[in-house]
Amino acid sequence: MLIAKGIAHIFFLTIYFLLFIFSRIFALVMSTIIYDSPVFGPIHSRRLGISLGINLLPKGGKVCSFDCIYCECGLNKERRTKNPLPTAEEVVEGLRSKLLELRKKGIVPDVLTFAGNGEPTLHPYFPEIVDRVREVRDRLCPSAKMSILSNATQIRRPEIREALMHFDNNILKLDTVSPIYINNVDRPQGHYDVEEQIACLECFQGKCIIQTMLMRGEYNGFCLDNTTEEYVAPYIEALRRIKPRAVMLYTLDRETPVAGQEKASPEAMEAIAARIRQLGIEVSVSY
Ligand code: SF4
Repeated sequence: MLIAKGIAHIFFLTIYFLLFIFSRIFALVMSTIIYDSPVFGPIHSRRLGISLGINLLPKGGKVCSFDCIYCECGLNKERRTKNPLPTAEEVVEGLRSKLLELRKKGIVPDVLTFAGNGEPTLHPYFPEIVDRVREVRDRLCPSAKMSILSNATQIRRPEIREALMHFDNNILKLDTVSPIYINNVDRPQGHYDVEEQIACLECFQGKCIIQTMLMRGEYNGFCLDNTTEEYVAPYIEALRRIKPRAVMLYTLDRETPVAGQEKASPEAMEAIAARIRQLGIEVSVSY
């Protein structure tokens, strides 16, 4: 009798353990997006229109100099890969054949967007790839704009700033100017100094768009609400210095890799947008 009870106990524990593992895998897969090629889409972007994506990171994994707790690719440690970075040739060839395929279907992308499985500017041949993608764009799809979604961690490097100047939409992340918040939410994986970031963002002389994630909630006991005055006042001051061409405010759009995060309220987002507009800067708000 005792043995039977013991076996039943182990059986239920095993089932419980397996269900827990499957639910974690399911949640991870459902809440994250990882691309398997250097060119993906086209997808309809909330902010950019019909967008053909260019992924300079390895297929099937993530490489990023941030590890944002809201990252749509998942957390860095869950998405490590041994796959190599795509070569410049693979990116350019992939783009060329995709544009020819779309042309046959009568589809013209509004934009070619450097984004994907992490931070595009980490690719060692980023400036060269930008030049070559521009050549392909000019030849096969001259009406498409070039955009990039970057976390801006590499803008200390002059060659990266120069390459970013070639984009029609040079979209750079700045969620807040609080180092504590950045360390808890964006979680830089190397050197990151907010003051230095703001100074480098000023170097673009308005040829950049600041993208800011606003949210609420709590993670590991840390309050995630960056819509309060404590965060907003210094952020507005930074924007006054940077003078970006525009600001994109957005909030969570899908499940996040860790629990506890909540969408910012539309009212809080609109209130921040109104303050930015007072600086004469164009703002879009997505919630
Ligand atoms: S910067 Fe972008 S890709 Fe990198 S962790 Fe943050 S959200 Fe993910």
